[in-house]
Amino acid sequence: MCGIVGYIGSRGAYDILIQGLKRLEYRGYDSAGVALVDTDGCLNVHKARGKVANLEQTAAAGNTNGTLGIAHTRWATHGEPNDINAHPHVSQSGDIAIVHNGTIENYAVLKKALAEHGYTFKSETDTEVLVQLIDYIHSENKCSVYDAVREALLQVEGAYAIAVVEKSNPDQLIVARKSSPLVIGVGDDETFIASDATPIVGYTDRVIYLKDDEIALIRRGEPIQLSSIHSNTPSKVDIQKLKLSLAQLEKGGYDTFMLKEIFEQPDTLRDCLRGRITDDGSQVVLSGVIDHQDIFAKAERITLVACGTSWHAALIGKRLIQDFCSLPVSVEYASEFRYSNPYLNDKDVVIAISQSGETADTLAAIQMAHDKGAFVYGICNVVGASIPRNTDSGTYIHVGPEIGVASTKAFTGQVTVLTLLAMAIGQIRGTVSRARVKEVATALRSMPEILEKTLKLAPEMQKLSRVFTYAHNFLYLGRGYNYPTALEGALKLKEISYIHAEGYPAAEMKHGPIALIDHEMPSVIIAPSDSLYDKIISNVQQVKSRGGAVVAIVSQGNKSMDTIADFSVKIPRVPECLTPIVASVPLQLLAYYIAVGKGKNVDQPRNLAKSVTVE
Ligand code: GLU
Repeated sequence: MCGIVGYIGSRGAYDILIQGLKRLEYRGYDSAGVALVDTDGCLNVHKARGKVANLEQTAAAGNTNGTLGIAHTRWATHGEPNDINAHPHVSQSGDIAIVHNGTIENYAVLKKALAEHGYTFKSETDTEVLVQLIDYIHSENKCSVYDAVREALLQVEGAYAIAVVEKSNPDQLIVARKSSPLVIGVGDDETFIASDATPIVGYTDRVIYLKDDEIALIRRGEPIQLSSIHSNTPSKVDIQKLKLSLAQLEKGGYDTFMLKEIFEQPDTLRDCLRGRITDDGSQVVLSGVIDHQDIFAKAERITLVACGTSWHAALIGKRLIQDFCSLPVSVEYASEFRYSNPYLNDKDVVIAISQSGETADTLAAIQMAHDKGAFVYGICNVVGASIPRNTDSGTYIHVGPEIGVASTKAFTGQVTVLTLLAMAIGQIRGTVSRARVKEVATALRSMPEILEKTLKLAPEMQKLSRVFTYAHNFLYLGRGYNYPTALEGALKLKEISYIHAEGYPAAEMKHGPIALIDHEMPSVIIAPSDSLYDKIISNVQQVKSRGGAVVAIVSQGNKSMDTIADFSVKIPRVPECLTPIVASVPLQLLAYYIAVGKGKNVDQPRNLAKSVTVE
């Protein structure tokens, strides 16, 4: 999903476009670009790989004049993220520029046909094919660019929101959509277009939501004309009042960033997995590992260091690496590790995990590991942060900005990357079979759809949250892969609702915490149908016999828990090593709804901060 923005009016377009791109950057940040049409007949295009800030640097040296322009922040679907594949794309004639959000499914057929007409292509994108098609129709039919756009869209299969400008026409902006979103902001003597309303808020509160199969001709100083792409008949211009504030819009219609981020997880895992599993599912491709094969081949031990939620992900990572790589693995709190004088040498690999990439204790642990000769691998979300800059190699989780202080999508992204990493290292060391990689990687690839199904539990979790208004203490229990899931579930509840919650290995509960259990202390027990299911059943019974209520997170199809637990929440079945990703979703939702029910500010819980840059 990329973001597009456009402007036509009396002000300089460039600043408005750049500000708009920054608001849309959550939609993708593989590259950014802008095309400006100047009144003297110049089309100035600036593009840069990476974030909008890079584009600003590139464009600073060039001409950014013009009161008409279009801009794009990309999430690549066709062609790798680089300067050439960045939008806007310009036609061979040099007259027409386009930005596009979506995919042109029949681009290969169209490309071949255009090549036969003498068109050559600079990029690998589907979008460039569309602009060349418009160019071809425009010159062949000797029609207006508007007519050529409409005609071209009739030949296109796929999804699009597009904005098109013409070099020789500084008074005109054309937009159209099918499946991808597009909003038009109507000002007094200016018009804005964007993928969502965030770039428009602050300029005007009058908006038109372009419908599917609609094309708009926006001419300076004239009323906007809307038509059906297919029938070419004019459609009614329905200007609506934008009721949302900027803060709400950035939340994409959700009440809070945390809820938005919980619901984003199918998409964020898609981003996280993109390009990291071969098409046949039999191999994991992590360049950070491939580039340092010898290090991973000769490694004698792995130490995972992290803090908070990342530390929980690290505990799951330990299980994964043990299972796939037959290596000794330990997990350390970065704050302890840095002062613990560990024995490390050049056969050690230290994996540092941090969402922000700025966690002070983790950075210090990295420094110490380096000083002792270890190879340090980073797993971070924020591109270009201190940890990625100070590690020898690494993998980004690519889940987009996480604004809610309580981590949700970063946790599932970290566990996903750790799963990939464990398989990638196992491949190099020959400790995992192709069949096993295929089994797990295939399941991992379907995780976005699995999480979509899992998120349907939201109303059930909301209902459940109301049952426990009496509770001041919670116990979260799990075993094996899901002991860390229990820790993470308890942490979520603590962080945002301020209810005391303990995460515990289910079988350890009888060595102490069982003394706390009574009818006022509910337990949440993570018990998917895995190799330890039969064992955990007896732990559930131990809680029940002390009068505590039990919420059990079980696999779909499980019936036995219905008669034991007070509530059983059914999650989709996945291989055992992937159950923490799925099971964490209802736990996030439960904590969320309990906290919201108590009137807490879930996005900014008291005393907490997103990026812990102090010791
Ligand atoms: N298909 C276009 C590209 O890869 C646009 C991507 C998108 O909208 O996600 O450049």
